Amino acid sequence: MALELRPNCEYCDKDLPPASTEAQICSYECTFCADCVDNILYNVCPNCGGGFVPRPSAFIYRIVKTTSPHTVVEAKTFRPLTDDGRDG
Ligand SMILES: [Zn+2]
Ligand SMILES: [Zn+2]
Repeated sequence: MALELRPNCEYCDKDLPPASTEAQICSYECTFCADCVDNILYNVCPNCGGGFVPRPSAFIYRIVKTTSPHTVVEAKTFRPLTDDGRDG
C-alpha cells in the first residue's frame, strides 16, 4: 500500500492545503490542525506520542518528491523506561 499524504487533519478532517499555516506535524509526519493540537491533543501526537511542529509549506512537496513505492512509515513502539531488563 502506498503512503498517502494527508492534506487533512487526521482528527477533525479539516482541510490543510500546502499553504496552510494551521498544519502541524509530528516527527512521524502525522498531520493535524493547530486547533486540534492546541485544544484536544495538547501538543501530543495520539499516534506516536511525539510533539508537534508547524509544517513548513514546502514540506509537503518534499514528501511527495521523496515518496517511493517502497517507502513505509513505521510507527515505532515506544517502550517505557524500566530499571530492569538491561543487558549486562
Ligand atoms: Zn483538526
Ligand atoms: Zn505522530
